[in-house]
Amino acid sequence: MSPASAPNPIVPTASARGAPLVRVVNLSKEFPAGSTGIIGGTKLSVKAVAGVNLEIQPGETLGLVGESGSGKSTLGRLILKLLEPTEGSVFFDGRDLSTLGREELRMLRQQMQLVFQDPYASLNPRMRVRSIVGEGIEIHKLARGKEKEDRIAELLAMVGMSADAMDRLPHEFSGGQRQRIGIARALAVNPRFLVLDEPVSALDVSIQAQIINLLQDLQEKLKLTYLFIAHDLRVVEHISNRVAIMYLGKIVEIATRDEIYLNPRHPYTRALLSAIPTIDTAHRPERIKLPGEMPSPMNPPSGCAFHPRCPYAKDVCTNIEPKLETGRGGHAVSCHVFPAP
Ligand code: SF4
Repeated sequence: MSPASAPNPIVPTASARGAPLVRVVNLSKEFPAGSTGIIGGTKLSVKAVAGVNLEIQPGETLGLVGESGSGKSTLGRLILKLLEPTEGSVFFDGRDLSTLGREELRMLRQQMQLVFQDPYASLNPRMRVRSIVGEGIEIHKLARGKEKEDRIAELLAMVGMSADAMDRLPHEFSGGQRQRIGIARALAVNPRFLVLDEPVSALDVSIQAQIINLLQDLQEKLKLTYLFIAHDLRVVEHISNRVAIMYLGKIVEIATRDEIYLNPRHPYTRALLSAIPTIDTAHRPERIKLPGEMPSPMNPPSGCAFHPRCPYAKDVCTNIEPKLETGRGGHAVSCHVFPAP
């Protein structure tokens, strides 16, 4: 995949950053996972997200990358308040979402939308495109009658589809077209922030680039802010201003796009980068094969949770959990052996 455009250039540099649009403070989410005995056993839980802190600037795309089970989709849903955190806070435009009443939250939710991974499953197969895209317009009473029809046509045009798509059902479209409809649905309520949860993972590689280019164009035109979730670093490279790497519910590295790709520090980031297929064999990094699978979040390893798979692990790694320390240019890493630059 080789999308032509670069990440949104209007995002302020680290030194010129103002108030973030999204701020996440010490956010955690535990899910109950049964108990050790039938009667009176110890209650078990899965810590899907564990003490995450991050900020997203207006107009920025933050890529969030991790293997399946790393907690990245849960984090996206916590930010949108589709899930209640066990601990911690989410601020949107300076407002703590946990302090808002129902009506205030409903109004703010309009500004924060989700685009799903699977365009096949996320569209109701019995609803015509007119109703799918128009649903949010109706719920939030944004337009009626002819004005609503015109707005739906405008949204479809924005995502590169013609107005005659309105009368058709989802199964009449290709995967890429369905994802365009999903994006139009998210845009219908004039959001400022989109969580894009693996929006291209279910698509062919050739279509992935088209959707990423569309998202970049829309971001520039509508001044949108994105959290772009993906399971590999290849997909987020061309769209992200910064990239965060997640492992077992925690951010283990976060930096500008160039720092992550040119100066990765954490061994997990390096392993993910080495797995990206490339035709540039002269600059291909040596493939780092990680042993085993990601451990269960129900029973995370002691110390650095990555230590059972890390080729550089030392004694300290098994006993003491490294902190996420921030270094030059906001490059933050949690590793005893390869600290922040
Ligand atoms: Fe590897 Fe140790 Fe760094 Fe963890 S702290 S990533 S085990 S070197």
